[in-house]
Order: sequence, then C-alpha cells, then structure tokens
Amino acid sequence: MIEEKQPTGLLGLSLRELTDLVEESGQPSYRGQQLFEALYRQRLESAEQISTLPQEFRQSMGQRSLSLGVPTIEKKFVSSDGTVRYLIAFPDGQSVETVWMPDGDEGEAGDGSEAGNEVETTAGRTWNRATICVSSQVGCAVDCQFCLTALLGVKRNLTAGEIVGQVCAVLNDQSVSPPKNRVNIVFMGMGEPFLNYENFMKAVRLLVEGVGVPESRMTVSTAGIVPRIYDLGAEPVRPKLAISLNAPNDELRGSLMPINRKWNLEKLVSAARAFPLRNREKLTFEYVLLDGVNDSEQTARELGELIRGVRAKVNLIALNPGPGIAFQTPAQERVTQFQRILIAAGVPAFIRRPRGRDIYAACGQLKRTVELAAI
Ligand code: SAH
Repeated sequence: MIEEKQPTGLLGLSLRELTDLVEESGQPSYRGQQLFEALYRQRLESAEQISTLPQEFRQSMGQRSLSLGVPTIEKKFVSSDGTVRYLIAFPDGQSVETVWMPDGDEGEAGDGSEAGNEVETTAGRTWNRATICVSSQVGCAVDCQFCLTALLGVKRNLTAGEIVGQVCAVLNDQSVSPPKNRVNIVFMGMGEPFLNYENFMKAVRLLVEGVGVPESRMTVSTAGIVPRIYDLGAEPVRPKLAISLNAPNDELRGSLMPINRKWNLEKLVSAARAFPLRNREKLTFEYVLLDGVNDSEQTARELGELIRGVRAKVNLIALNPGPGIAFQTPAQERVTQFQRILIAAGVPAFIRRPRGRDIYAACGQLKRTVELAAI
C-alpha cells in the first residue's frame, strides 16, 4: 500500500477532537487544551512554535506529518481605500479570496453593536473596527446573474479548518488579535455558506471559543437556502443572519437568482419572520441595485410591503461591475431615492459603501485573480 504523505492539518479540530488525538498518542489530556490555545488563540503556524508542548511531542507530530494547517497567503492586493484582498491557498492547490476591511462598509450600522470610540492602528492606518469577509466554498453553485463568483461554478466545499484558517492568516498578517481588537467577521465571500452548513457552523464555534470573536460580531449571508435558515435559528451559538433578497417579487427574483425557483419569496420571507432574534438583534436584507432592473420607485414600495413588520434593516448595494456581468450600476440619485422610499415606509435602510472596487474586492467581485487574469 502507498503511504499517504499529505500532511494532516490540526486547524479545524475541536477541543474534544484535539484531546482525543493527544490521548491516542499517550499524552495527558491537558495537552489537547494547549494545542487548542496554540492553534486558535495564539494562532501559531508551526508545531515547533508551541513552547508549551514537550520537545519530543513536537517532533513526533512532525514525524506523523501533523501540520497545523494554516493556509498560505499567496497574493495580496491593497486598495486605495485600505481594503486588502487576499488570495489564500490550500495544500490541494485550490484557493479562495478573503477581504480585510478596516472600518467595515457601514453595513454593520444599525445592528445595536455600534463601534465605540477606540481607535486602532495597523500598517500605518487607523480604524476603530475592522471586518474580515470570509469565503465558505471554492466558487459557488447558486448562479446569481449579477455575481462574478457564480462564473466559477462550485469547485468544492471548504473544511472548517480552511474557513477558520482564512481568519487566522489575515489576523496574523495584520498583527491583530480579538477580542482585544474589535474585529467583525462576515461570511459573505465566495460560496454559499448554507450549502456547506456543517463546516461553516463548526468554524463559527471555533472562532467564538478559540479565536475569541463574539458571536454578535459575526454575520452570515445566504442567497436563501430556506431549511438552513430554520436550522440556524435553532443553534445555541450562531452569527447574525443576512438574506440576499435583491427583488420583491418571484418573477424578478427568479430571473436574477435561480435559487428562487426552489425556495420562493413566500417561503423565504416566512422563514425570516419565524427567525428567533435575540435582544436588540435585527435581520439584514441585502439588496443589490441593478440599473433599470430592480431599482424603480415602484419596486422600492413593493419591497417595503413585502418585509413590513419584520425586525430588519435593508442594506442597499449599488452593483459592483465586472467582466461578463450584463447589468449596470445605477446613478447615486436612484440609490438614495430607493433608500428614501424604504425609510418613508418605516424600513431602516442603509447604503453599503463599496470597498476595494479598484482591486476587485467588493461584493460580488471575488473570483480568484488566477481566473480573472484569463478574461
Ligand atoms: N452566497 C451568499 C454569501 C455571499 S454575500 C449570499 O448570496 O448571500 C455577497 C453579497 O453580495 C450578496 O448579498 C449578493 O447579493 C451581493 N452581490 C453579489 N454580486 C454583487 C455585485 N456584482 N455587486 C454588488 N453586490 C453583489
């Protein structure tokens, strides 16, 4: 038999799994806790750095090809607005994009967790909160007509370790540590988190218990995988929920988001209404504005009607353009008019600031530089 030489990454294992692993190697169980701390709290990148472990145990990890499994930053693009887009690579050669946004994109506003006045400085820039936008799959299967990631199709799911690993790699690169530094996580990168639900949820628990990011500072966005919305509502530890709505009726939504044919707006909005919100928590509806398609005043009123009474805010995103995308970005005036109508209808509405458009880091623009170059 050919021996498997692919190194096994420890990142992604829970405290229980790490404890089982050390016990199997004849080590005392508290070494599991030490590994957990080293992986998630200290975010070390190689076994030799784990000074709490005896030398001989570190060596034996090496012999058994047990690596820590932090993914590597292959490329880094820095936007004029401070946003950084990372191309992050895994051992099988696949890669995803992860985005660092000092000061977020204003989409966090109005959720009851406003930033304090504390100011941080990294790489010569000041910020009072930063947001990391994390990918959940290599590519995406959902096929939204306005999104660049859709053009890739789905290559594979990420493991929990690969999801947490993006956060660890970026925090290390930025020399930032939660909870000391205020960091938000949004599961809004490449992929549909709810089509990789178990790995995504395991990553959430590791980020909360290990890395130290509070659940209230995480948001997951779904294109509308309705059964998983109910599952998320039943989780004891969970991020906040955002739903990509993008149209107020089935005809229009079905033409923009084929997933609407499987779970229509009635099913989606019922799940949103049934979602058990915590104190002060609100749902978010994301709405990408496409010029002349879903941005009319009538459409805004229809949207207001559809979500009336849901404890929610709407984040408006003017289309971020891209090669192969057949839609146009509306004029700023149409965006603010759409917002005004929602507010008049009693729906809190915010305009998301595009971040990193110049480096293809904005919403719907993540497509892996490797393929972009080929266009
Ligand atoms: N698959 C999940 C997670 C991705 S979140 C979801 O769809 O919710 C990415 C957000 O960016 C979604 O709200 C999506 O509607 C939006 N988006 C996609 N393409 C976009 C584009 N070209 N311009 C602006 N926003 C876009």
